[in-house]
Amino acid sequence: MNAPNPQGLWHARAADLLARGIDGRMLIDGHRYNATDGDLFDCVSPIDGRVIARVARGKQADIDRAVQSARAAFADRRWAGMPPAARKKVLVAFAERIRAARDELALLETLDMGKPIKNALSADVPAAARCIQWYGEAVDKIYDEVAPTPDSALALITRQPVGVVGAIVPWNYPMLMASWKLGPALAAGNSVVLKPSEKSPLSALRLAELALEAGLPEGVFNVVPGFGHEAGEALALHMDVDAIGFTGSTRIGRRMLDYSSRSNLKRVYNELGGKSANVVFADFDDLDRAAATAIGSMFYNQGESCNAPSRLLVQEDIADAFVKRLAELTPPYAPADPLDPGTALGALVDETQTKTVMGYIQAGIDEGAHCVAGGCRALESSGGQYVAPTVFDGVRNDMRIAREEIFGPVLSVIRFKTEAEAVAIANDSAYGLHAGVWSSNLDRAVRVSRALHAGTVHVNQYDEDDITVPFGGVKQSGNGRDKSLHAFDKYTELKTTWMRIG
Ligand code: NAD
Repeated sequence: MNAPNPQGLWHARAADLLARGIDGRMLIDGHRYNATDGDLFDCVSPIDGRVIARVARGKQADIDRAVQSARAAFADRRWAGMPPAARKKVLVAFAERIRAARDELALLETLDMGKPIKNALSADVPAAARCIQWYGEAVDKIYDEVAPTPDSALALITRQPVGVVGAIVPWNYPMLMASWKLGPALAAGNSVVLKPSEKSPLSALRLAELALEAGLPEGVFNVVPGFGHEAGEALALHMDVDAIGFTGSTRIGRRMLDYSSRSNLKRVYNELGGKSANVVFADFDDLDRAAATAIGSMFYNQGESCNAPSRLLVQEDIADAFVKRLAELTPPYAPADPLDPGTALGALVDETQTKTVMGYIQAGIDEGAHCVAGGCRALESSGGQYVAPTVFDGVRNDMRIAREEIFGPVLSVIRFKTEAEAVAIANDSAYGLHAGVWSSNLDRAVRVSRALHAGTVHVNQYDEDDITVPFGGVKQSGNGRDKSLHAFDKYTELKTTWMRIG
């Protein structure tokens, strides 16, 4: 295995960045500030356990200040009142700044949460830029409606920005999840207060600086780093926040609804966890590709993806050979130095997550599943957080490793006999984010994709993704939809204006 190599290019760049120092102050009303009470927290890199920055620990007073700034910016219409074409120009410029800062943003992301630099460079940064640009370009192309009323009246149905949006995001794709909120929220004319995860606050702060440089007026986009039970709770309970765009765990999503009911009934849009079923039928004509995709999609981002296909349902007839192939395909994903451009699987976000994942691996063994690959920590002498990609065979859908979201590189293989059984197992989950079906029988592929209860179903692939399509779940995977024009539904209110015509 590839241990961290301090001689590599990206290590040199990281050393340079750290020598210059990372500014961990919050960004409110266009300016950097320490937390009101001066409190800080350590930002620890899971690559090697080093403290890479000290970050302002925002709390109630800081959230109050950020919300006030966002409200003032919304009230005087410095952003919402700009002509749509002018807002478009700023957002497109923002996207260009993100692209220009690609190396720095990718490095921040990798240092902060351990994903391979290769993926941060080729996926996270370009996808964040594309997202902001796509919504920016939509601003001056969306029309409102005129209702089909009698001639004696005119009824306009217009979309109004909701006002102040609180965005609370997780650490697995820190910049991208923030962009999925920022793109439509800003494009619609709202002001935003973003609370990044305490485990990955750095790229959000840099994003806010880039937005300012691109011409976004001060106060429109504020970032308050801090902990969930402090800054996050203060934001979600705030009486002057109109909507919360939340991405995170189902456990905390539940609290968002509670905070809303205890405060001002703000709109809550939850994008939550998953335990996605990926169903492989024996009739699929390229089982090698199905196996490679099952592994690649599962271990991408260390398995820390909400839509990871973590329950792999394999038809009994092919299961022995298929599982053997999975085990053969796993070693290239052995954890390695995230700053090495050849690395496919990096570090887990922190020690807590490593313990959680190792706890689930132990639970799988205790409940009788058969570990055919991985099952252990790796690279321990690095001081970082590495777990070998793990495949369990012989999993039953009532085991914890099949029911609970692990959020790490652990794949559970469940065998099934018939199509009906596969659909029943796939749908027997509290979650409903993504699902996959592999079959060369068109009727079956369509039948099963219709029957799978999930926000997105993949047929004979699992990787397709684009900003043009909605992303979100059913059941306890949440209610909102990020991406596509449908995301505007979350950040706008429909307003009806009746006029009497003489
Ligand atoms: P988390 O729920 O622990 O935290 C998410 C955010 O909420 C963080 O910013 C955190 O600080 C904040 N938070 C935590 N407790 C809070 C509280 N009491 N009040 C207010 N805010 C609070 O989730 P996580 O561990 O950061 O992220 C992993 C989860 O995110 C997984 O469940 C994953 O499936 C989910 N996720 C979902 C999607 C999606 O689009 N559906 C995308 C990415 C991640």
